[in-house]
Amino acid sequence: MNRLGTEDIEAEVKQARIFWPPSMINHALDSMGKIVALRPDSDYSELLIERRVRIQAVPECYGTLDYAWVDLWNRLVVIDYKYGQGHAVDVISIAGELNPQLMIYATALAEEYDFAFETVQINIVQPRIREKVPQEIVITPRDLIDFRDNVLIPGIDATKQWNAATVPGGHCRWCPAKDVACFVWRDADSTAPAEESYFDFD
Ligand code: SF4
Repeated sequence: MNRLGTEDIEAEVKQARIFWPPSMINHALDSMGKIVALRPDSDYSELLIERRVRIQAVPECYGTLDYAWVDLWNRLVVIDYKYGQGHAVDVISIAGELNPQLMIYATALAEEYDFAFETVQINIVQPRIREKVPQEIVITPRDLIDFRDNVLIPGIDATKQWNAATVPGGHCRWCPAKDVACFVWRDADSTAPAEESYFDFD
C-alpha cells in the first residue's frame, strides 16, 4: 500500500475486477483508506503487511498479522482485517477482556522491537459489519507484557498438563478436537456459547 502509486493501484483494481465481485473490491478500497488513515503522525512510521509473528517464549504460538504501522518510540498500530459478516468481532468484550487474538499479535510484534513504544493501538476493520468505524483501543506496552507473562504463557502451560481442563465455549468453534474427540463439547449446550461473536479468525 505504501509502495504502490495511484496508477499501480488502478491497475491492481482493474485486474481484481476480473475475478472478484464489485462489493468486495469496494470494501477493500474503503478499508485501504481506513488503514492509511490509521498511520501515526510521523515521517518514520512503516507499514507491515501480512507479517508472520511469533511469541518468543512459546514459538508454537504464531499467526499472520494483517497490517501494522510501526512508529518506534511512539506508537504501534496493530490492524486486523476481518471480511466475515456472520460474527461481529470486538476489540474489547462486554466483560472488559481485550480480544486475545489481537493481544497475541500485538505482543508478538512488540516483542520484536523490545516493546519500545509509548502506546499500542489495536484496531479491527470489519467492513461488512461495521462499515463506518474501525474498532479501536489504545493500551501500553506494559499491558502487553502483563498479558504475556500473566495470561498467555501460564494459559499455554496449563494446556500442556495431562489433566488440563476442557472448557467449552465460543472458542470451541475453532478447535480441531471439537467433532472428533471432545466429549465436553458434545455434552455442552453448543447453541449459545456466550462469547461466540468474540472470535472470528480469518
Ligand atoms: S472442543 Fe473441547 S478441547 Fe476444544 S476448546 Fe472446546 S472444550 Fe476445549
